[in-house]
Amino acid sequence: MLLAPAGMAADARNVLVLYSNGRLVPANVDVERGLRGSIRDTAARPVDVFTEFLDYPEFVGEDYEDTVATYLQRKYAGRPPDVIIAVARQSLDFLLRQRAHLFPGAPIVHTAAFRAYPQPFPTLPADVVGVPVEYDPAGTIEQARHWHPKARHLLVVTGASPRDREWEALLRDTFAQFEGRLAIDFLAGASTDKVQERLRGLDDGWIVFTPGFYQGSDALKYTARESVQMIAKAANAPVYGTFSSFVGTGAVGGRVPSFEATGRQAGQIVNSLFDGVAPAALNLPKAMPNELNVDLRQTRRWGIADKDIPSDAVVQFKEPSFWEAYRTVAIVGGTVILLQAGLIASLMIEHHRRRKAEMALVQRGGELAHASRLAIAGELTASIAHEINQPLAAILTNADAAEMILQSGADRRGDLRMILADIRRDDMRASDVIRRLRTLLSNKQIERQAFDLAEVVSDACAILQAEARRREVNLVVRNAATSGRVFGDPVQIQQVLINLVLNAMDAVEGMPGDRRTVVASVEAEADGLAMSVRDRGPGIAPEHLPKLFDSFFSTKRRGMGLGLGIARTIVEAHGGRIRVESEPGHGTVFHVSLPVHGQSSVHAAAFA
Ligand code: ADP
Repeated sequence: MLLAPAGMAADARNVLVLYSNGRLVPANVDVERGLRGSIRDTAARPVDVFTEFLDYPEFVGEDYEDTVATYLQRKYAGRPPDVIIAVARQSLDFLLRQRAHLFPGAPIVHTAAFRAYPQPFPTLPADVVGVPVEYDPAGTIEQARHWHPKARHLLVVTGASPRDREWEALLRDTFAQFEGRLAIDFLAGASTDKVQERLRGLDDGWIVFTPGFYQGSDALKYTARESVQMIAKAANAPVYGTFSSFVGTGAVGGRVPSFEATGRQAGQIVNSLFDGVAPAALNLPKAMPNELNVDLRQTRRWGIADKDIPSDAVVQFKEPSFWEAYRTVAIVGGTVILLQAGLIASLMIEHHRRRKAEMALVQRGGELAHASRLAIAGELTASIAHEINQPLAAILTNADAAEMILQSGADRRGDLRMILADIRRDDMRASDVIRRLRTLLSNKQIERQAFDLAEVVSDACAILQAEARRREVNLVVRNAATSGRVFGDPVQIQQVLINLVLNAMDAVEGMPGDRRTVVASVEAEADGLAMSVRDRGPGIAPEHLPKLFDSFFSTKRRGMGLGLGIARTIVEAHGGRIRVESEPGHGTVFHVSLPVHGQSSVHAAAFA
């Protein structure tokens, strides 16, 4: 309640609302909402609303009524009501009976009072006003017949309590008009089990109508709404009823009065009375209009097309359209998708740029590796020349010998055949050297393939043997691996090995004869193959170890410091690992682990 500003008449008007039954009956809750929303309560004319409940039908009888009347009379003696609102017939009847003792001067506004139920409407004094409610079960059945043209039967379900019997009588009366058009069956006062059994047996030739019931032949008690819930659940036919509160129980609905509108109407009458309008001067309609109320889920369930629902119907449980239901989600989702798409696009552009940069790097890396191989070849020139010169010189010597035999005229075909075989062998030796060199020095596109690691190691060592001899180093190849294939580029792996062996040969330079041995070996490992190069040189100073694989780190006078860096890049591109173990003063081992073919994950090879 608002407080009146100083100086204004602010005595509150009192309204007493007397409900027929309990506080939580759905219809009462609706009436209350309508009332509270419409009664004008201003600072200039505050209105206090009090509510009381007769709790019919649990409490009935003359004694009870007298007690309540006394209670109300005493309770409100200090705040006598200026208007009393009677909600539903029992309250109106009670007030009319008790009027002499109960605030006789206060006008009564009735609301939600049914005209034809339970008894014909009483004749009212001039200061008892309101708009009665009328049911329209017949209108409901007309509508249902229109929606279910196949239906030939109407089953009316009512209960066993006295109130239920009153409804039954009313409906028998009302539905008499359908005789000849519908076969009407009354299922009145049956047990819950019986009701359910009967309802389950129905088919599309049936329509069900119920005012709900309070009690069947068993002791089970219901509220009207609960009984309809039970009925609709069991029924194999559409269920129609009398109250708007039935919508949502599983019933289709019906032409029903709106309790909230009834409450609103009563509130407006109260406002007019407080405005000074005489009760007799109120121009009130004869009855509250009925509205078609339906549950859209049920109309659809029973095959009623949406377009067949009249436009003025109150349609409840409408599923919101996708847009209505998910607007926020859709907007947020759409924005997220757009942002994501933008992010993906920019990532793809970035990826493309990176890929291009990587390709350029790969190309440069490849060029570097190639340049490094050329450098190796440069380093090996002397030994290579020797390697080729040897067979060439042997060929020349053999050719001279053959010529001398021919000049002698003797028939020494056997010797000549041996000489020719020697020449062929030397020629093949030279061309082998050239083939290996050409492979090593070629700058062709990297070819990834499965190859035998041991074979590649012995090929590389064959290239290096002459160099080893020249440097008076004993190069030993040990092949402990039975067989094993690695996936990748054999030339690059060969390059790694050559780098390691040349470094090892550098390391043993200046060592006494017994330490001038370099061992290159291939071994099987738990999860792959390993090739290692071991020397008995001076070892590596511990402080050099962290920088060993850095580009341009070299301790040699003419070293470039690129060999190990390139080797590591190649090994890692093959999914492998290179590590070094060194014992200063005793020697060094470089160890290269490579996954065997089939285990190797494909690698973003820097050089591939
Ligand atoms: P470079 O041989 O041109 O110096 P590398 O990258 O191949 O370049 O080697 C880098 C450095 O690692 C060498 O200068 C040397 O100090 C050290 N090193 C490599 N292998 C050995 C080895 N087997 N024994 C001792 N030191 C080595």
